[in-house]
Amino acid sequence: MMPLENNITPDRKASKNLSKYLHKNMDRQAGVDHMSHRTKIVATVGPACDTYDKLLELVKAGVNVFRLNFSHGNHDDKSQIIEHIRNINKTEPYNIAILGDLQGPKLRVGEIENNALPIVPGDVLTFTNEKCIGNLEKIYVSYPNLAGDVKIGNTIMIDDGKLEVKVVNILKNGDVKVEVIIGGILSSKKGINLPDTKISLPALTTKDLEDLQFIIDQQLDWVALSFVRNVKDIVILRSKLDENKSKAKIIAKIEKPEAIANIRDIIIESDAIMIARGDLGVELPVEKVPLIQKDIIRKCLHRAKPVIVATQMMESMIDRVKPNRSETTDVANAVLEGADAVMLSGETASGNHPALVVETMRKIIMEVEKQYRYNREEDLKPQPHSPSFLSDAICYNACKMARDVNAEALIGMTQSGYTAFMLSSYRPKSPLYIFSKERTLINQLSLSWGVRAFYYAEEESVDHIIEDQINILKERGFVNTSDIVINTGSTPVQLHLPTNMIKVTKVD
Ligand code: PEP
Repeated sequence: MMPLENNITPDRKASKNLSKYLHKNMDRQAGVDHMSHRTKIVATVGPACDTYDKLLELVKAGVNVFRLNFSHGNHDDKSQIIEHIRNINKTEPYNIAILGDLQGPKLRVGEIENNALPIVPGDVLTFTNEKCIGNLEKIYVSYPNLAGDVKIGNTIMIDDGKLEVKVVNILKNGDVKVEVIIGGILSSKKGINLPDTKISLPALTTKDLEDLQFIIDQQLDWVALSFVRNVKDIVILRSKLDENKSKAKIIAKIEKPEAIANIRDIIIESDAIMIARGDLGVELPVEKVPLIQKDIIRKCLHRAKPVIVATQMMESMIDRVKPNRSETTDVANAVLEGADAVMLSGETASGNHPALVVETMRKIIMEVEKQYRYNREEDLKPQPHSPSFLSDAICYNACKMARDVNAEALIGMTQSGYTAFMLSSYRPKSPLYIFSKERTLINQLSLSWGVRAFYYAEEESVDHIIEDQINILKERGFVNTSDIVINTGSTPVQLHLPTNMIKVTKVD
């Protein structure tokens, strides 16, 4: 038998080696410069990273936005996490955004006998609306109008599509008979997806309304709505936010075929989009997901709406310390396609190496951004018929000019966020700095590609503001004497008009 080093058991030895590996491979010093990766990182918070120290470690590794998933956990736990993130923003030089992700009309089967029911192709099961412990006779489904909505022949996916059944009969008492197409073991509370059924459930369930009130009370920066079907779902959420005078911005999660069919209007009405590839790949044939992702990103760039690519980006790192080659390429492709942000779910929420995953993702982003297609303004020319044509033209030309004069900084001012989203959508090579007196917006912009935002409330004169903003960047070492800087702004300042001016300055 091999002698064991320092009396360490094999398990302890493995964990010591792993901690040496993590130590050697992680940049733990001062934390990363958040402009070092212009494509942003969204990380889901869960038990693996929910303490102040862990969250800070993730921020230092490169996280720009934390996502709280309301499908899990309770409000007390979330309050604690929110407090930690807010404290990080107070004590460290970051404006980390918090995104509350509503569960939406997620459908599930109920409890299953012994938590394991083997089902085989050809079995006929009964889905019922009456609560029961599920067995080969009857299975409860949390969907009161199942019988009213489905049609004979509709497919129902269970457990992320691992199991599949087909509707064969709809009974008068509201029960639905289904035939098993793909069998396996059915366990309790598994999610169900109905790709070809128009679901009549409201956009916001009772649980969502309670969670939304919490999100509003806690003044979270972004709210994501799951299983969006059409623009009405967004309008309903927007009216709830308006009723409560909430400044939260809306992310539509695209995970249903109906949303794909209505994507143009959903993008216009939402503030940002999440390509939720987990459920999307269940509701649609999985091979359709890559081109849908490309198409949604392109459409979002055209509308200057931030877009997040989500789910299974670094899945193998839940356990392992290195990603698969295919995961690395997936992150790289999302960056190259022009996503504003890439998202981590289980990798940070419940994985073994949350900070290392973020660090690894940041390194992939930075490597790819060396060969990035910056300055995309020629693809996104301002549209003369648009009501924002004039300010769009200013943003477009500011980016063009920044490229022509090789500007060290492109600076925008905004209170609504519009100018920031617009400038960002051109993906300027010059670093992009946004000044605003809207504190919520400063955090919200953490999601937006390449934006570094600052609080700024002076309104004396345009000349004074420009001088001040350049000095702020100079003090922080972002620009130096002789650098060229492009400012956009609006004059007269006190009127808060849409962006209407560009200035070129050589820094003194
Ligand atoms: C998804 O389905 O890809 C997704 C992000 O949604 P959730 O994690 O909320 O299931």
